Amino acid sequence: MTLFDSRRRPLRDLRISVTDRCNFRCTYCMPKEIFGPDHAFLQREELLSYEEIARLARIFVAHGVEKIRLTGGEPLVRRDLDHLVVQLRAIPGLKDLTLTTNGSLLKAQARGLKDAGLERITVSLDSLDDAVFQSMNDVGVPVAVVLGGIEAAAAVGLSPIKINAVVKKGVNDHTIVDLARHFKGSGHIVRFIEFMDVGATNGWRMDHVVTGSEIVEMINAELPIEPVEANYRGEVARRWRYADGTGEIGVITSISEPFCGDCTRARLSPEGELYTCLFGVRGHDFRALLRAGKSDEEIAAFLSSVWRVRDDRYSEIRSEDTVGLRKVEMSHIGG
Ligand code: SF4
Repeated sequence: MTLFDSRRRPLRDLRISVTDRCNFRCTYCMPKEIFGPDHAFLQREELLSYEEIARLARIFVAHGVEKIRLTGGEPLVRRDLDHLVVQLRAIPGLKDLTLTTNGSLLKAQARGLKDAGLERITVSLDSLDDAVFQSMNDVGVPVAVVLGGIEAAAAVGLSPIKINAVVKKGVNDHTIVDLARHFKGSGHIVRFIEFMDVGATNGWRMDHVVTGSEIVEMINAELPIEPVEANYRGEVARRWRYADGTGEIGVITSISEPFCGDCTRARLSPEGELYTCLFGVRGHDFRALLRAGKSDEEIAAFLSSVWRVRDDRYSEIRSEDTVGLRKVEMSHIGG
């Protein structure tokens, strides 16, 4: 039975953050000044176990979820992630199982994830320019490492691969056409993401945003593109295909063209808090129910009570007053 929220949006997508840790310090997500050596990350016993995650996922799938995306932090830093993939892959009714990674650990893990049942993968790569990329990940990891991960994922059949690039004015906007050109004709899809006021620590300002239409204009000037229909309701990226038929790109426009009307996404944090919006300020505690020995029916009833009253539409109401809210960090619940 599918759950619908107060705006008749079905619960379809569950993003599961398996860790709040990451081996990168991307300036727009996990700035080093905040997430330094003394930052208190979650301890192992605070994290949901893979069995707890799989049990919750089964309940969510029974109430409409068709797609699960594993995220973080960086999901590949959590040990034996393929063990979780096996459990999730076995859930009847789950149509799509994917994962978002920074790609730095992918070369070693691609085969294991594929064999465990992962179908697709999204890799974050903000620029091909090494100096720019390293200044954005802020830990000095070179582009070649991530390209090696993408190659390994493609080689084991985790494709087509989506490549996510956050575009920040004056930082990497001058390199986005090169990124598009590099993957043009490869079958992989680059999605350019407007810089967002996620969390409360990335120093977001509107004048750092390159809008979707500016991104399209920059690419179209050198690589002609045309708009394409969405694949399904609630698809996050707006699709553009190359006029010469050699593939497509996507643009994610949370700032300039919000898409809350079709938002079917819920996000589970590593310690079992459910957020009904990326820009949420409060989560709903499912771990307490799991560890109190509640039945599946009781947990499902709680899920229903949370989703039915959901009316999130943050991107539609974003203003100077909302930007400063103590929103949950994207590094905690995934993008
Ligand atoms: S701002 Fe919130 S409600 Fe709107 S699309 Fe993003 S996650 Fe969904």
